[in-house]
Amino acid sequence: MCCFTPVCVDLSTICCNLVHMTSSPAVQSLAALSIGAGTVLSGVPVVAGVQYAPVIRPGRVPAPDELSAEPDIAEADRAAEASRFTAAAAAVAQRLRDRAGHATGVASEVLAATAMLAQDRAWLGAAEKGIAQGAPAVRATTAAAAQFVDLFTQMGGLMAERVTDLLDIRDRVVAELNGLPEPGVPVPDVPSILCAEDLAPADTAGLDPTLILGLATTLGGPTSHTAIIARQLGIPCVVAIAGLSEVPVGAMVLVDGTRGTVTVSPDPAEATAAVEEAARVTAAMANWTGPGATADGHKVAILANVQDGAAARAATETPAEGVGLFRTELCFLSRDTEPSVDEQADIYSEVLQAFSGRKVVIRTLDAGSDKPLKFVGHPDEANPALGVRGIRITIGNPGLMERQLAAIAKAAERTGNSPWVMAPMVATAEEAKIFAAQVRAHGLTPGVMIEVPAAALLADRILEHVDFLSIGTNDLAQYTMAADRMSADLAALTDPWQPGVLALVAMAARAGAAVGKPVGVCGEAAADPLLACVLTGLGVTSLSAAAAAVNAVGTKLASVTLTQCRDAADAVLATASAAEARTAALKALE
Ligand code: PEP
Ligand code: MG
Repeated sequence: MCCFTPVCVDLSTICCNLVHMTSSPAVQSLAALSIGAGTVLSGVPVVAGVQYAPVIRPGRVPAPDELSAEPDIAEADRAAEASRFTAAAAAVAQRLRDRAGHATGVASEVLAATAMLAQDRAWLGAAEKGIAQGAPAVRATTAAAAQFVDLFTQMGGLMAERVTDLLDIRDRVVAELNGLPEPGVPVPDVPSILCAEDLAPADTAGLDPTLILGLATTLGGPTSHTAIIARQLGIPCVVAIAGLSEVPVGAMVLVDGTRGTVTVSPDPAEATAAVEEAARVTAAMANWTGPGATADGHKVAILANVQDGAAARAATETPAEGVGLFRTELCFLSRDTEPSVDEQADIYSEVLQAFSGRKVVIRTLDAGSDKPLKFVGHPDEANPALGVRGIRITIGNPGLMERQLAAIAKAAERTGNSPWVMAPMVATAEEAKIFAAQVRAHGLTPGVMIEVPAAALLADRILEHVDFLSIGTNDLAQYTMAADRMSADLAALTDPWQPGVLALVAMAARAGAAVGKPVGVCGEAAADPLLACVLTGLGVTSLSAAAAAVNAVGTKLASVTLTQCRDAADAVLATASAAEARTAALKALE
């Protein structure tokens, strides 16, 4: 999955939605609530696993109004107040940078991106102006953030999503100015379940999985940042849980990331047994060494999704048989200028080297929408998710694709590992034809991603031109269900278990089988062990997921037969909702 795009350079740059942490006040007693012992709250399951522990919640952020009632600053003191503000913003940024330095991979990028936002000139300038006019630093901070919040809200779309970033930074700076601990996740005394309305990436990125055993949020979707980080940490996670805000701090809860439930104050013996059973399953997973196959030997390659050389090297520690999706755009999110062919070749070589002699699928730049690249020069669009993104960026800039393909060919030559190359967001057979010719001209193997419903519907015609398909279920769900994948409110619609989405997956898989060409899945759907079995039953030939999910997917697939997978696929296609689809699959596969 991923729309994980931790680039934040300045406030005029559209970037991904760094979700703001809004801490719900802890409710003190179960008795006063509509939930009681044994209440089962349901949400969207994101990372499998079961944990039983007390609830903790992120620290409360003082409401800006409570803090901004101070009188104006005397003219003589304004310079000092401005310095106090600058120092607070710098301290917040430095703390985030330090954490970035200690984190790795995606987590590090998220923290670095948030640090950059804290030092953004536009909003720092607005706050400094307010202080120069007499506002105390806290009020100026709040007003400067509000100014941009209003602006972005009016602009709508992706700019509106930037609002959450700003509020997160505002709260950090305000806390710093008031000498309060920075809002965020407390370090618990005992291993705990972190429950929140939603979580800021800056907080989830630094979580210690030995202390935070599971995540549960009221908001968020299966492709939200909380979900991505939980998957990276390998801790059970359920999102979009109605009623979660009523569960008090300290209450014991059982989080089931497979079923998507949070049970409040369950029977301790039953809860402990459930955790032990899940641990047995996890231990069995560790024993799985690949390659991917069903119990009766039907082979399905299990691959890893990576974003750079470091992630690829980390993935070689798992039984992943190769790389099914190398998201190249994530290498260049902070770049102002296009990387040279040589520079690109160096980066691509690292991934090809890590999986030397094994399959690597490189995706050409999927820039645009929630992943803008400065050097691409994206147009200002009202609906960027439906705009010039993915392969469409080459319409006005054909050299960009040509240079990337030249760099990939160079890396292939240098490493002796010739990758498959696929384009994102292909919508027509004509686009596939043009792309395939370009890729073949570089001696590489062309394929396309199936993320647009039109491409799934015409997969047979697209396959006349390319050698393989890879289904991006994150975007396929977004476009099939007409539901923004970033929207927490629409998480139930962007659930890859939606039978409408799976019907399109089935169509693409059938088209591949008819001509004997591989059709993989590289969206988050492939990271869900149960759904991976359904995808296998639908005829998918490879599954590419976050490295942390590889063992779980491989283990589950090895425990079922191809007939069970096909029965599950048939049952799922006959359902009318995501919930029914899950239940039908569980029945066929357990
Ligand atoms: C997808 O859309 O499923 C996919 C793999 O691409 P991304 O998440 O990077 O958009
Ligand atoms: Mg996509």
